[in-house]
Amino acid sequence: MEIAPGVHSVPLPGANGFLVCEDRLTLIDAGLPGSRPVLEGYVSGIGRSLSDLGRITCTHGHPDHVGGVRELETDGVEVLMHPADFEALHVTLGEALRRPSKGRLFAYMARTPDRAMPVHDGDVLPVLGGLEVIHTPGHTPGSICLYAGRDRLLFVGDMFEVRRGRVTFASPVFSDDVRRARASVQRLAERDVDVIIFGHRPPWRDRANDVLQGLADRARREAAG
Ligand SMILES: [Zn+2]
Ligand SMILES: [Zn+2]
Repeated sequence: MEIAPGVHSVPLPGANGFLVCEDRLTLIDAGLPGSRPVLEGYVSGIGRSLSDLGRITCTHGHPDHVGGVRELETDGVEVLMHPADFEALHVTLGEALRRPSKGRLFAYMARTPDRAMPVHDGDVLPVLGGLEVIHTPGHTPGSICLYAGRDRLLFVGDMFEVRRGRVTFASPVFSDDVRRARASVQRLAERDVDVIIFGHRPPWRDRANDVLQGLADRARREAAG
C-alpha cells in the first residue's frame, strides 16, 4: 500500500517493511526470515524488480526487523544499521546465557546480517530528498528513527505503538531500557511531522506533531516524578 508518494508499506512476515521507490529501491526494515518472496511479489506488482534494491536500513536489531536481510543482501545492496545493534547481534549463545538480558536473547535469536555499514545520529541518507538518522536508544541500544523532512514522514520502528487508539511508548516487555526510550522522544518532538510510521501498525496521520509533543511532555513529567 502506498502510504506517501513513492513510499509503500509492505506487510512482511513479522513486521511492516517500507519500500521507497526511487531510481534505486530502499527498504526500511526487512521482516523475519522468509520475507524475500513476499517483498519480491510486492515489488513486481508495482512494476519494479528486486534487482533495483540498493539499500536496506534497519530501525533496530530485533529479529522481525533484521531477519530478512540476509536473504536480500547481494553485492549491490548496502545494509545500514546503528553499530550498537549490529554489534549486539553478534553475541554468542554463551554470552546470552551467561549474562542474560532481553536484548541479548533477542540478539541471539535474530538471524543476523553478515555485514552492515554503520549509521550514526545526524547522518543523512540520500533517500526522499534527505533521510535523517536520529539515534533514539531505549527499545534497543541502537534503535534509530528516520525523518524525511521534505515529506514530513517519521519512521519510528518499534519506539512507539498504538494502544487503545493512542500512540504510546513500546511495551516494556520487549524493550531494553524504557527510561532511555522516554528520554529520546524530545528530539522527535522537535521535528515537523505529518505522518508517524510504525513497524507494527498503520501510519498515524492525526495531528502527529501534537502527539509527539504530548509524549515528550509525558516523558519529562515521568522523569521528574
Ligand atoms: Zn518489531
Ligand atoms: Zn523491536
